[in-house]
Amino acid sequence: MNEALKEAKKAFDRNEVPVGCVIIGDGRILGKGHNLTETLTDVTAHAEMQTITAAASAIGGKYLTECTIYVTLEPCVMCAGAIAWAQLGRLVWAANDTKKGFTTVNQRLLHPKTRLTQGVLIQESETLLKDFFKKLR
Ligand SMILES: [Zn+2]
Repeated sequence: MNEALKEAKKAFDRNEVPVGCVIIGDGRILGKGHNLTETLTDVTAHAEMQTITAAASAIGGKYLTECTIYVTLEPCVMCAGAIAWAQLGRLVWAANDTKKGFTTVNQRLLHPKTRLTQGVLIQESETLLKDFFKKLR
């Protein structure tokens, strides 16, 4: 999650909503990324989408069943869908997203085998997000 927070800080420095993501498999980092929706003017350029693409490319396969995805904010519905399609073995997130998080809609969006952990480094991620939105005002 520390690596994911580093990615989130990169997003912060680019004036992107600071969300970062890392995928670990086989004891190594297969992919990392951060939110790029402003830079790419693409609403689908969330940190998770960038990272899933990178990890699939790193292993040369589309399924990430043996991998863990770490993300600094609870995934949205789109990203939860992508995590389900990639069949991630485990999802770990830091801060909850009470407005756009997928659990506000339907927790069963994930693949049934995906294990869930929430609240890892929640404080650090929440502080970064709060600082970002404070900066905007
Ligand atoms: Zn998303």
